[in-house]
Amino acid sequence: MKIAIEGCAHGELERIYETIEGIEKERNIKIDLLLCCGDFQSTRNLTDLQTMAVPRKYMDMCSFYKYYSGELVAPILTIFIGGNHEASNYLQELPYGGWVAPNIYYLGYAGVVTVNGIRIAGISGIYKGHDFLRGHHEFPPYSDKTCRSVYHVRQLEVFRLRQLSGKVDIFMSHDWPRGIQEYGNKAQLLRFKPHFKDDVESGQLGSRPLEELLKAVQPTYWFAAHLHCKFAALVPHPHEKKSKSLDANDSSSSSSSDSESESEQKEPELAAPAAPMPVTKFLALDKCLPKRRFLQVLDMPSSESADGKLTLQYDAEWLSILRTTNHLISVKDNNYYLPGKKAGSIEERSNFTPTAEELAHICSKFENLKVPENFTRTVPSFDPEEEHNYKQMHIEPPQAQLNPQCNEFCSLLGIDDPLCLAMLANGKDLPQTPSNLLNSSTDVKPPTKSPIKQSVDESLVFDESLTTPTKRKLNLLLPAPTAVAGATEPDKNVIDLPDEEAEELAVPPAVVVDVAEMETNPKKTLIDPSTSLKKLKRRNQSIYQADDNDD
Ligand code: 5GP
Ligand code: MN
Repeated sequence: MKIAIEGCAHGELERIYETIEGIEKERNIKIDLLLCCGDFQSTRNLTDLQTMAVPRKYMDMCSFYKYYSGELVAPILTIFIGGNHEASNYLQELPYGGWVAPNIYYLGYAGVVTVNGIRIAGISGIYKGHDFLRGHHEFPPYSDKTCRSVYHVRQLEVFRLRQLSGKVDIFMSHDWPRGIQEYGNKAQLLRFKPHFKDDVESGQLGSRPLEELLKAVQPTYWFAAHLHCKFAALVPHPHEKKSKSLDANDSSSSSSSDSESESEQKEPELAAPAAPMPVTKFLALDKCLPKRRFLQVLDMPSSESADGKLTLQYDAEWLSILRTTNHLISVKDNNYYLPGKKAGSIEERSNFTPTAEELAHICSKFENLKVPENFTRTVPSFDPEEEHNYKQMHIEPPQAQLNPQCNEFCSLLGIDDPLCLAMLANGKDLPQTPSNLLNSSTDVKPPTKSPIKQSVDESLVFDESLTTPTKRKLNLLLPAPTAVAGATEPDKNVIDLPDEEAEELAVPPAVVVDVAEMETNPKKTLIDPSTSLKKLKRRNQSIYQADDNDD
C-alpha cells in the first residue's frame, strides 16, 4: 500500500491532493492513503475559524470547507491528527476520532486504527508542561487562554497509548519526540534551523512525553511535523518493549539479558540467536508551501481487501483501553495523578493492557471493528460568494456542539464524552445534538452548493433518521478522585544518546521509498518529483511567521 505522509497541512488540502495526483501521474503509481501530521485546519465555516489559534490577520478559510460542503471529495482516505492551529471546536466534538468530512478521518485526542492491517496510532496537540497534568477542562466558547490550552497534550492520552502491547506500524504526532535530533543528522538540522541550537543544547527541543512514548511503543515508523523542516532519524530500541507478561515477571527476567557470564551463555535457552534490535524510522516533514519538503510517499506491505477498497477499522486493544480507563478522565483545570506502580497500599489497577476477556467484550460490541461511515454535516459550510469579505466581518465565537458520531461511539463503548463532562462540571446545559436541530430550527441549513454526484452522495445530505433525542447516559458523572502521590509523573531522565548511534540521513523533498530499501540503505538519495508538481499558492507562506512559537 502506498501511503503519502504530509507534515503540517495548514488548510491546503486541495493543494496536497493536487500534489499527490502529480506524483501519481509522474510515477504511474496509485497512492492509497494520506496521513497528515497536524495543523490540519478543518474549518467548516467562519465560526470555526474564530477558534483557530492564530492572529486575526492570518485567519484564512483555505480549502477544507469545500470537502465539508461536498463541493469537492477527498480522492483518497485521509487520516489526520491535530496540531496547534485547528478548528478546535470541531475537533472537540470528536474526542475519540471520527469523520470530519467524507473520506477524512480525525484520530481524536489520541487514537489507534488499522487500514488494511496497517496499525496506525497517533496523538494530537503539542506539549506544554504547564497543562500536561490537567484534565480536559476546555469547551467553547473559549477564552484567550483555553483557545490555546485546548490543544495541549494531556497525560491521559499518553498513559493510554502506553498501554498498547501489540506492534504499532505507524505513529503520528505533531511535535517531535524530545532528543530525536541525536539520531539523525543534527549538524544539518542546525545548519537549516540555527535557532534550534539553544533548545538542542538544553535538551528542550521536542516533547518529553513523546520521547517516553517512542521508547515505550517502539513503532516501526514515526511521523511528525511542527518544526517546519524535513528530518529523518533511526532510533534503536536496546530495551525490550514493555508488555503485560514482562510486567508480570519483571524481577526474574530483567537481568538475564545483561549477563555476560560464560556459564550462563552455555545454557540452552540462552543460546538462541537474539532477535534483531527493533528500530523506529522517524521522519518529520515540512509545512505545505512551494519548494518545501512537505510530502513523502512510502510503500508498506498490507492486506488486500476483496473489493479493492481500503478497510478502516477500530483497534480492539485501543477500544478496550478507552473503556477500562474511562474513570481516569478528568475535566478539572488542575493537576491530577494517574495510577502507577507506586500506588503503594492503595489497590488500584494501573495496567490497562487488555485481557482476553476484555478484548472479547470489544469484539462482541463492534462487529468486524469496522469504522462506520456515519459522517453527518451538522453546520452550514462557508459560502465564499456571500462571505468573501470575511476578514472584515464580525463573527461570534461558537458555542459547544455535540456530534452524533461521538454520541454513537460513546454509547456503544459505554464511555463518556469529555466535552459533556467538562460542560456539566461547569454547570452548563448540554446542547442538543445538531441532528435534532435539523427538525426544529433554521440554525442549520443544508449546504449552499449542490454536492458532486459521486459515491459519497448519501453521506453528504442531512440524515433525517438521525434525529434521536439528545440523551447522554453519562457513565461517569465526575472523574473519580485519584489522589495517589508520586504516581505517573513524566520521566525526568534525559535520554541516553550515544553519538555512535546517530545516523546521518540525506532525504530529498518528496520521494517514493520502498520500505525494504529504507531499511537496508537509509542514505540512498531518491528522485525528487517536485519538478513536475503544480506550483502552490504562496498565500500561506507568511502565515504563522509572526506566531512561530505557538503560545
Ligand atoms: P506553527 O505551529 O506555528 O505552524 O509553527 C511552529 C514554529 O515554532 C516552527 O517554526 C518551529 O520551528 C517553531 N518551534 C516549535 N517548537 C519549537 C521548539 O521547541 N524550539 C524552537 N526553537 N522552535 C520551535
Ligand atoms: Mn504546529
